[in-house]
Amino acid sequence: MADPQPNQMMSCPYNMAHQVEHYRMHIHLQKCRKQYPGCKKVTCPFDATHIVNDVELDYHVSCCRKRYMLDSQIYVVDDDYRPTVEVQPPPAIIPSEENWDDEATTSYKPDLSKKGAHIITKIKGATPSERRRARMEGIKNYKPPEN
Ligand SMILES: [Zn+2]
Ligand SMILES: [Zn+2]
Repeated sequence: MADPQPNQMMSCPYNMAHQVEHYRMHIHLQKCRKQYPGCKKVTCPFDATHIVNDVELDYHVSCCRKRYMLDSQIYVVDDDYRPTVEVQPPPAIIPSEENWDDEATTSYKPDLSKKGAHIITKIKGATPSERRRARMEGIKNYKPPEN
């Protein structure tokens, strides 16, 4: 639906002979509707608290703020399905790799029966995701001692 331009002339819903710029129509309607007190009332489809005269509904819908809110929500949702470079998170930097090496060298005990124990020490107290990452790091970095 193409929205009317602010300066576009439109016909007053009460009297087609009234040509009013769209952005001034709400002012015109305030005066004009007083001459038609018996008009049927209808509810805005976008907000039940908007009660407008039947003949004004088309105009109201064309500039209802609730409708703009809905439109913007649809736009945001739609945008999520087309991610751009800006919304992509930066590559994760994992600073634990260096610490891992330090800790591995200091806490590693060359006891072959407990090989890999330093990995368990390292991941204690971490959050589940940290533990998982540490475990993956451990698997990746772990080299069994040469016999
Ligand atoms: Zn009018
Ligand atoms: Zn409305």
